[in-house]
Amino acid sequence: MKLIDLVNPSVLTQPVYEPGRPIDDVARELGLDPAGVIKLASNENPLGSSPQALAAMRQALERVALYPDGGCGVLRHTLAKKFDVTAEQIAVGNGSNELLELLGHLFLRPGDEVVMGTPAFIVYKLVTLLFGAKPIEIPLVNHVHDLDAMAAAITPATKLVCLPTPNNPTGTTNPPAKLREWALSLPDHVVLVIDEAYGEYLEDLVDWNPLIAAGRKVIVLRTFSKIYGLAGLRIGFARASAAMAGLLQRVRQPFNVNSLAQAGAIGATTDDEWVRSCRLSNSEGLAQLSRGLTELGLEFVPSFANFLLVKVGDGAAVFKSLQQVGIIVRPVAAYGMPAWIRITIGNPDENVRVLGALRSLLVENLSC
Ligand SMILES: *Cc1c(COP(=O)(O)O)cnc(C)c1O
Repeated sequence: MKLIDLVNPSVLTQPVYEPGRPIDDVARELGLDPAGVIKLASNENPLGSSPQALAAMRQALERVALYPDGGCGVLRHTLAKKFDVTAEQIAVGNGSNELLELLGHLFLRPGDEVVMGTPAFIVYKLVTLLFGAKPIEIPLVNHVHDLDAMAAAITPATKLVCLPTPNNPTGTTNPPAKLREWALSLPDHVVLVIDEAYGEYLEDLVDWNPLIAAGRKVIVLRTFSKIYGLAGLRIGFARASAAMAGLLQRVRQPFNVNSLAQAGAIGATTDDEWVRSCRLSNSEGLAQLSRGLTELGLEFVPSFANFLLVKVGDGAAVFKSLQQVGIIVRPVAAYGMPAWIRITIGNPDENVRVLGALRSLLVENLSC
């Protein structure tokens, strides 16, 4: 018997997530000095990590012989205080990606439907397919989620509705008042998944707490991977009703979040100064990159996050050429946008470098 004949057939058709390429891997392949390679591919923080998070992790390093707190007790209480909910209303995951998978364990069976935008964060679709459920993909209109069309796509088979705000890869949002009204209008048999991975970059957010307190079926995801600069730790959390957060506890591994990640997240949660300064420098970088792209005559989607979606003609070719000069960006053909690339906002020097390379490549028709 062949190995492949033993495999669950649905796994064989499961698409594989394509991450941003790591600096060392690109440097090795192309014979470049890793110190000269910049990564603007995964929406990581160009300023690094919250200093309070790093300090907390250095202390926690002394205690890695012990298992982590399986229930993330201190972290959940710290988050509860900051977000004005109870610790029972918080669930913590090995990245918010794990929480998405746990939602699959909790809610999805073959035949169920999950309503999502397209293009939107691809993990919603991957999780849906992994559990044999059906992605119902609603095209964005002018790169923004079409809330009315999403609501209209809900059927008795719908279990989850996924809404990232801002969205990845477009960086767009829906007006908060409209979003809130829409959320309240959804039928009682669906769970609304609000993904605020880039929420800290927004000026104006919906306050979901009243909906959670009122027992609405809504779960709000946040991550430490983006503004807090802790992507390598893998930690994210959810706010939801105590009932939903409790159910998520049942489907996770006993020690799903490691002790360094918990310590780093506790340090980061109270580091308001870090968030303030990163938000400011991101908005300056966003303006710098937007101005530069406009000067180059390149079309891009106005963004509320820490990245820009830019139309370059042949996304795969530009991705490759930029890589040859030590700049890693993200091709988005997997999101059905082969003419575009996604560029993370870097620090000022990195932004100058990517603009210069795009000028050589696309305006002057040089090979960088
Ligand atoms: C980056 C990102 C995440 C974060 O995932 P983690 O697993 O927490 O690193 C979640 N949602 C969206 C839309 C993202 O872009």
